Amino acid sequence: MKAVSPSALDARILDIFASRQGEGICVGDPHTFIRFGGCNVVCNYCDTPESIPAGSGTVKDLDRVFETISKLDPGHKTEEPDGS
Ligand code: SF4
Repeated sequence: MKAVSPSALDARILDIFASRQGEGICVGDPHTFIRFGGCNVVCNYCDTPESIPAGSGTVKDLDRVFETISKLDPGHKTEEPDGS
């Protein structure tokens, strides 16, 4: 089987979900959250430590990310939780 190289637009995605913003000036507003895998920030207050290992998450291309977002509740802003 031939190995498939990841494209520059692929990313390790841990989760994509719609919820309400819980902090900042947009608190309470509907948002779409994209949680990436392989976080290299390693905050000591991390509430999602499963996102830290380099191999965490599933490799998805941009089309799959947009496809997933398009199936979520419309009207949500898109957010990258905690800057990860
Ligand atoms: S940036 Fe987010 S995911 Fe990364 S270590 Fe900090 S809190 Fe955890």
